[in-house]
Amino acid sequence: MKDVFGYDQYRHQQEQIVDTLVKGQDALVLMPTGGGKSLCYQIPAIARPGVGVVVSPLIALMQDQVNALNQLGVKAAYINSTLSAREIEQVKQQALDDELDLLYLSPERLVGEEMQGFLQRIKVALFAIDEAHCVSQWGHDFRKEYQNLSMLHEQFPEVPRIALTATADQRVRKEIVKQLQLDDAEIFISSFDRPNITYAIEEQESGKQQLWRFINDNHPNDAGIVYCLSRRKVESVAEFLSGKGRKALPYHAGLSNKIRERNQHQFLMEDGIIIVATIAFGMGIDKPDVRFVAHFSMPKNIESYYQETGRAGRDGQPSNAWMAYNYQDVVMQRQFIRDSDAADEHKEVLHNKLDSLVDLCEQLECRRQTLLRYFDEVLEEPCGNCDNCLNPPEKIDASKEAQMAMSAIYRTEQKFGIMYLIDLLLGNDNDERVSKLKHDQLNVFGIGKDHVKTWWRRLYRQLISQGYIDVDPEHGSLLLTDKAKPILKGDESFYLRDVVKAKNKSKKAEEI
Ligand code: ADP
Ligand code: ZN
Repeated sequence: MKDVFGYDQYRHQQEQIVDTLVKGQDALVLMPTGGGKSLCYQIPAIARPGVGVVVSPLIALMQDQVNALNQLGVKAAYINSTLSAREIEQVKQQALDDELDLLYLSPERLVGEEMQGFLQRIKVALFAIDEAHCVSQWGHDFRKEYQNLSMLHEQFPEVPRIALTATADQRVRKEIVKQLQLDDAEIFISSFDRPNITYAIEEQESGKQQLWRFINDNHPNDAGIVYCLSRRKVESVAEFLSGKGRKALPYHAGLSNKIRERNQHQFLMEDGIIIVATIAFGMGIDKPDVRFVAHFSMPKNIESYYQETGRAGRDGQPSNAWMAYNYQDVVMQRQFIRDSDAADEHKEVLHNKLDSLVDLCEQLECRRQTLLRYFDEVLEEPCGNCDNCLNPPEKIDASKEAQMAMSAIYRTEQKFGIMYLIDLLLGNDNDERVSKLKHDQLNVFGIGKDHVKTWWRRLYRQLISQGYIDVDPEHGSLLLTDKAKPILKGDESFYLRDVVKAKNKSKKAEEI
């Protein structure tokens, strides 16, 4: 580590992970973005005899890593579709001559017959499977080719394997272990908390002005990233910020490679530049002093939000993750999911993931606790470093409505989904099951007419996100948890973020 990479100390559990691999054992590593996953397989690949084979889904990342390693004097290469047949032969020859420490491959190529035959002829030091969550249907980035990687264990039983990911809840974790046959792997889980990042999320009211207020108040001279959903929005926000006197550069897939590279290069080299980007930007970007990440559109799920905000403050200095969301974004994200070619079950997963993000946005409690809970990590106390902790939001007592919402579940024997329950509360009998099951005779039928449908949706979502209600993963029916009882009995109160009051308050602030 010191001789080759020049670092003095291991971070997180790097040392134990390196030891595990060097000893020849398997490892599963969960470490946040920027935590230092690459070193965990690079060092053992160098230390062990033979070539360390790294599977990575992204060609651009492969090239970055190989370039960085070559600069450090490490013998690394990749084989992918950007190389000519002759270049591929050269790399293979290096491996045969034991002149290679690391070889990067795409999953398709690795499991191909030709490569498998080749790997049998050389000495493989280890297999590293990067972005291992891609193997899981429950993950946010499922890739079919990853599922074939299970063959590695069968073909190379003696070669240690390390699977790495920055995002995996328990379900995804279990599936990685199962699909990759990592039952004997040591599992290393680092905390996902990024204590130097201050989280804040607000609803969009005044659009770009709101973004400008955030940037100008907090980061008048700092480097930062602004994420937008569409290319058009990227262009208009970059123009707007330039008009305000900031150096703001666009970055999206519609720009030529040359312009993208130039903008990225400037962002890395010069101080105080704002990059306005679609999610295409950021993979493999390693700029330590990004002081803020602003989401000017809602990301697609909490994993993306975490990964994108994680690009702020890698140097450990105080940084801001700010989001201004808008319900239009939710509608758009839903449309993306519906139009995608994912299987129906996977679409359902994606919708649920989007719901969890909406919950985070509407959350009254500590954002960090909610965020970490999503990754199955418990933060005992509210963090004191997010908007909800620093400025507790206006809230309204919705205990009575929560009782109505949950009695509707109870009275219908926990067999129905949100939309049906809301119809009951609103007194709609369009669904023929209502009269057939005599649900129109229940005392909850029609008692919720003081509020509109979207209001009830929000209430149900909040009850779910705060753990009063579970959703049956198979049927989508709502189930009451133990936590629901005290509210149903009137022993405890339930609060909702008061969106209307919060809006008026910030309007007033603007008038002043
Ligand atoms: P990840 O893949 O987990 O997102 P990387 O492996 O790209 O993270 O590492 C992120 C940054 O941290 C890189 O610049 C890397 O060189 C640096 N880094 C990794 N380990 C250490 C360490 N032990 N000491 C100092 N810097 C480190
Ligand atoms: Zn907090």
